[in-house]
Amino acid sequence: MTQAVPQTFDRVLSSMCTRPHPAARAAAERFLETNPGDPETYRSVARLEADVVEWLGEVTGLDRPHGYVASGGTEANVQAVRAARNRADAADPNVVAPESIHFSFQKAAEVLDVDLRTAPVDTDRRADPAAMADLVDSDTALIVGVAGTTEYGRVDPIPALADLAADADAFLHVDAAWGGFALPFTDHEWHFGHAAVDTMTIDPHKLGRAAVPAGGFLAREGATMDALAVETPYLESTSQATLTGTRSGAGVASAAAALAELWPDGYRDAFDRARANAEWVASALADRGVDVVDPVLPLVAADLPGDLFDALTERGWRLARTARGELRIVCMPHVTREMLIEFVDDLDDCR
Ligand SMILES: *Cc1c(COP(=O)(O)O)cnc(C)c1O
Repeated sequence: MTQAVPQTFDRVLSSMCTRPHPAARAAAERFLETNPGDPETYRSVARLEADVVEWLGEVTGLDRPHGYVASGGTEANVQAVRAARNRADAADPNVVAPESIHFSFQKAAEVLDVDLRTAPVDTDRRADPAAMADLVDSDTALIVGVAGTTEYGRVDPIPALADLAADADAFLHVDAAWGGFALPFTDHEWHFGHAAVDTMTIDPHKLGRAAVPAGGFLAREGATMDALAVETPYLESTSQATLTGTRSGAGVASAAAALAELWPDGYRDAFDRARANAEWVASALADRGVDVVDPVLPLVAADLPGDLFDALTERGWRLARTARGELRIVCMPHVTREMLIEFVDDLDDCR
C-alpha cells in the first residue's frame, strides 16, 4: 500500500496556515500523547500551556493574561461570544460587529442563540464605529473588532470600538486570529495595551508557525474564565473553561516551541519578508492592469478575471477568492519571492 502524503506548499497562495517551524514540528510529535484537557494528569503540557498564555500576553500587550490554547480561531471566537453572553445582564443578548468578521461568528451566534448584528464597513473596508453604534441597544453584550480581516487584511479602529463598547456597557473582543503575529511590528493600535479590550483571539497555527491545532483565547479578567467554567466531577481538576474536552497537547507544545524560537525577532523577520512580498506581487499585478486592493498586512486581493483564475488553478496554484470574487493571495512564511515570480510568469503565460 502506498503511503498518503500531504500537498506541498510550493504553489499554495490561499492558506492562512503554513509549514510549522522545525522546532514546533518536533514538539508536536513529542507531545502527541498528552491531553491538556486534563491538566492534573498531564502536568508538563499544562505548564507549557501556561507559558504560551504568558507569551501571548506579551505579544498582545497584556501583563497578567488569562486564557488557553484553543483548537483555533473559531473556538476562541465562540468562547468570546459565550463569555460576554454569560457575563452580560441582557434578556435577549446581541453582538454588534462589522460585516467583515470571520464566518465563525455566525456559528457562535447560532450555537449560543444570540442575535448577530453586522454593520457596513467604511470605504477602506474597516469597521465603521458610527454604523455599528446604530445597531447597539441595551441588550448589546459584545462589540467585535477585527485586527487583520480574513478577506482584505484590514485593521479595525480598535480604540474607537472600545469607546463604543464603554458607551454601550458591553464587552469588546478583538479577533486577531491571523493578524496577531504581524501587528506587533506595525504602528496599528489593536491590542490590550492600546485600548480597553476584554478578550482576544490570536492563533499560533496561522502566522505563529505552530502546528494545527493551536488557537489562542485571551482575557483581561479572570472573571471571563470563570464565566466559561463548568464543573468536571470525574477529572483530577475541578473545572474546565475550554469548549473542547480532550484536546491537542501537540498543538500546545508546538505553540510553545514556536514562540520560544521566534518571538519576537523571528516573527519580525518573517513579517518584513511577507510585507515585501505582498508589495511586490501587488505592484506586479497592478503593472499588468489588474485592480489591486492596497495591502495593509501581507494579504493581497485583486480583481483577476475568472478565466485567468481558472487557468492558474489548472496549473496547480492554490488560490482563494473573496466573497466578491477577487483573487486573494496570503503571503504566509512559506510564500517566497521565487514562488511569486513563478506565479506572475504563469499569469503572463495564461493571458
Ligand atoms: C482564520 C480566522 C478565524 C478562524 O480561525 P480557525 O483557526 O480557522 O478556526 C477567525 N478569525 C479570523 C480573522 C481568521 O482569519
